[in-house]
Amino acid sequence: MNFNKIDKILATEPKFRTKQIGRLIWRDLIDDWGQASTLPIALRAKLKLECPLEIKAEVFKEKDDKSAKALITLEDGLNVETVLMRHQGRNTICVSSQVGCPLGCVFCATGKMGFKRNLLTGEITEQVLFWSRWLKRDEVSLFEKRELRGISKSSPALLLQRRETGRVDNVVFMGMGEPFLNYDNVFEAIKILNDDNLLGIGSRHISISTAGIVEGIERMSEDMPQINLAISLHAPNDKLRQKLMPIAKKYPLAAVITAARDYVAKTNRKLMFEYIMIKDVNDSPEQAKELARLLKNPLFFVNLIAYNPTGDLASSKPTQIKKFKDILMRAGVQALERYRFGQDIKGACGQLTSQNKNL
Ligand code: SAH
Ligand code: SF4
Repeated sequence: MNFNKIDKILATEPKFRTKQIGRLIWRDLIDDWGQASTLPIALRAKLKLECPLEIKAEVFKEKDDKSAKALITLEDGLNVETVLMRHQGRNTICVSSQVGCPLGCVFCATGKMGFKRNLLTGEITEQVLFWSRWLKRDEVSLFEKRELRGISKSSPALLLQRRETGRVDNVVFMGMGEPFLNYDNVFEAIKILNDDNLLGIGSRHISISTAGIVEGIERMSEDMPQINLAISLHAPNDKLRQKLMPIAKKYPLAAVITAARDYVAKTNRKLMFEYIMIKDVNDSPEQAKELARLLKNPLFFVNLIAYNPTGDLASSKPTQIKKFKDILMRAGVQALERYRFGQDIKGACGQLTSQNKNL
C-alpha cells in the first residue's frame, strides 16, 4: 500500500475527498477500492489501478492467541515486523520505525541485523492499519462463531465484547529501530494515528521508547508532550551501559538523566525507564542500589523486563528480578515487572528477529 500515491491522486480532486477517503481507509477499514461505493466509479478504478489497498503480510500466531506477529513486505521488497498483543481486553500494537537499527545494542536481535533504512510515515501507520483490519476480521469471525451457537447478534454482552475485541487501543514504538533517529516520520505518523477523523487513538495511548537520544527527548517534550515516553536504560552506570549499548558513548547517563528530569519538569508526565534483566550482567543487588540512586524522582518509574534470550545472554531468574525490584521499591523508586508476550513467535516488543533474507 502506498499512501503517497493516494495523496498524489487526491491533489487533483476536490478537497472533501481527502476526508472521505480518510474515513473509508481508517474508519470503514476497506481493503479494496471496490468497497468504496461512495466514490465516483472512475476515481475508484484509478485508485484500484494505481494504489491498491492491499497490505502484503505474513502472520505468525502465538499458541495462546494472546499475541501475533506480522511480517509486512514493503514496496521495495524489504520486510518489517509489527506485533499485536492482547491483554486484559485491550489490543496493543508494537510498531517498527526503521528497517533494522543502526545502534547495535548487543542484546537486541534487531541491532544484530544492522540498518537498512528509515520507514516512511505511511509505512509506520500501515502497520497499525494492518492490525485494525485484522481485528475487524477477527471480530466478524467471533460473531459468526457465536451466531452458529445461536447467540443473538444484538446481545448486550456481545456488543460489549465487540468493542473490546475489534479495535486497536494502544500503540507502542518498541518494534524495530530507534524512533528518534526517524523523528519527523514518527511524529507525522503519530499525528495521523491521533487524528479523530481517522483512527483516533488518544495521545495517552501512544508510547515511544528510545535508547536515550537526548535531542529526541528534548524535541518530544515540545512537540508531543501528551505521548508517553520510555527510555531504555538497562545499566546503572556508563561502563556497563556502553558495553551493552554503544550509543551510550555518545549520550552518557548524566546527559540522559538530565534530559529525563527536564522532560518531567516540563511536561509533568510520568517517565518510564526500561531495564531488561540479564543474568549476571545487570541484575545484582549492588546494581539495584546504584540504579535507585540514579532514578530518584517522583515521576520516574522502572519497568523490569525479563530478557528474552536471542544469543549468548540469559534472562535473570524470577526470584532475582523480584529481589531487584524490592531493593528499588525500598529505596523509594517505583518499579514494576512487565508482562511477557509473544515468546514462541519471537515477537515480543524489542525482540523482533526475522530470519527472512530480505530484511
Ligand atoms: N530502539 C528503541 C525502541 C525499540 S526496542 C529502544 O531501544 O528503546 C524496545 C525495547 O525492547 C527496548 O527497551 C529494548 O532494549 C528492548 N529489548 C530489545 N531486545 C530485547 C530482548 N531480547 N528481550 C527483552 N527486551 C528487549
Ligand atoms: Fe536499536 Fe533499540 Fe535494538 Fe538498541 S534495543 S539495537 S536501539 S532497536
